Amino acid sequence: MQHLSTQTFVNDFTAAFDGDQSGDPQPRQTPGVLYSKVLPSPVREPKLLAWTADLAAELGISDPDQNDLNILAGNAVNPTMKPYAACYAGHQFGNWAGQLGDGRAITLGEWPVADGKSWELQLKGAGLTPYSRRADGRAVLRSSVREYLMSEAMYHLGVPTTRALSLVATGDAVRRDMFYDGRPADEPGAIVMRTAPSFLRFGNFEMLSARKEYDHLQQLVDWTIERFYPELTGADKTLQWFKKVMENTATMVVEWLRVGFVHGVMNTDNMSILGLTIDYGPYSFLDAYDLNFSPNTTDHPGLRYAYGKQHSVAYWNLTCLANAISPLFEDPKPLISTVESFGPIFYEKFYAMKAGKLGLDQVTEEEVQLIDNMENLLAAIQPDMTIFYQLLADLPEDLNDSTGIYNYLQPSFYHVLTTAEQDLLYKNILAYQHRIARNKISGTESSAVMKANNPRFILRNFLLYEAIQELEKGSDLLFKKLQKALQTPYSREHDEFFALRPQWANEQPGSATLSCSS
Ligand code: AMP
Ligand code: MG
Repeated sequence: MQHLSTQTFVNDFTAAFDGDQSGDPQPRQTPGVLYSKVLPSPVREPKLLAWTADLAAELGISDPDQNDLNILAGNAVNPTMKPYAACYAGHQFGNWAGQLGDGRAITLGEWPVADGKSWELQLKGAGLTPYSRRADGRAVLRSSVREYLMSEAMYHLGVPTTRALSLVATGDAVRRDMFYDGRPADEPGAIVMRTAPSFLRFGNFEMLSARKEYDHLQQLVDWTIERFYPELTGADKTLQWFKKVMENTATMVVEWLRVGFVHGVMNTDNMSILGLTIDYGPYSFLDAYDLNFSPNTTDHPGLRYAYGKQHSVAYWNLTCLANAISPLFEDPKPLISTVESFGPIFYEKFYAMKAGKLGLDQVTEEEVQLIDNMENLLAAIQPDMTIFYQLLADLPEDLNDSTGIYNYLQPSFYHVLTTAEQDLLYKNILAYQHRIARNKISGTESSAVMKANNPRFILRNFLLYEAIQELEKGSDLLFKKLQKALQTPYSREHDEFFALRPQWANEQPGSATLSCSS
């Protein structure tokens, strides 16, 4: 175990690449470099709101003392750190946005772990960087709580994600126009320290390609392969690497669909090169099973980033990445055919995941048909996704009349089903029961499979909303409860939260709808 303040940090990224060493945080374009050196800006009165003990233990980080707290707040840096903001670009809502970069994230350094590996430690909300553009480089408490809790919730659900080590209140106010209605207000500021083996995004590669810095691009690709995909060594390793990125991205999206997660801002600058869920903003879990649900108000005209479109957006984003690296290929044909294999790669993972949710012991054409039918049923009757699957996992084998089935599943419904909907439900549940009866595994086993694949506790937006309201008033009771509950999402220990979304939350801004203002 080592303290943040006394550890000897690794700085492989800054050592490997050209950077702007001026330390000037003035917003600007930074051609020719992959990062800019920058220090966090101090805050007035840091207070530790949360510390992730299991992550700290895993990384070998000692519980924070006063010196460490100063680092978590951006009031001090360890002398072995070389803090920087990364330069990246991206496609936002389908359009090329040019240079973006870490506008309010500062990587302090890399924390060494076993086998010569390291984890980036990054502060989010620690002040201006050259990439802050017209914004302030700060983060408000509400968005920091959301990033802190949700990244941890996703980790415990088993979804690939970046993690969060700490949440610090800064004691400074941050001015935000939360509803974009021209009425900005002061809100409490906060900083999250987040961690991942790397925060590299598709956008880091897109930036170098757009600037035609092909030597840098090759160098970044090689570095990424060597560090994170060391098993790839052949002459076609760049192609193989792209394929791995595609597989990891497909796995990530399938995992989102399994637990009902909507990211909300799948811009290419928010797509991790390691296939991790990254940049938690206006995200949401599904309550009702609505394929067109997007919590992000900025996305509301087109619903580009709705729950049921996330796999096609992933494909679109991967196409951007393929475009970016294509100058490194003499013959782009194999790259093109690799991108085009996204569909089969995704759907194989998708149906395997759905089979797990339904407790099916294999996936042949028959199961694919059944899964599709169940999907259509859910999309039509829009039950609460989490509650529906929990009930299904305990569906009595001998329950086979229409009214009985309806009554049994009724706690998952947000509306009274029409006769046509009840018929559809009955037909599909009967077909499902017939298929389950032919499983080679026992009913108990398939139920266990379902319980391992369907979370019982999800961090619903209205719960986060309530926890944030309370925190802003000085109570961390609900925050602490959620922090505990999210660690065992597949257990029944937290059934006080096992309920439909309440009426009041249906239209509540900050719960039902979220903006990018954070
Ligand atoms: P996001 O939508 O949060 O992924 O951010 C898109 C871009 O805007 C990234 O370059 C961010 O670093 C930047 N950004 C977002 N919020 C702020 C802020 N408060 N201050 C500076 N830059 C920001
Ligand atoms: Mg982002």
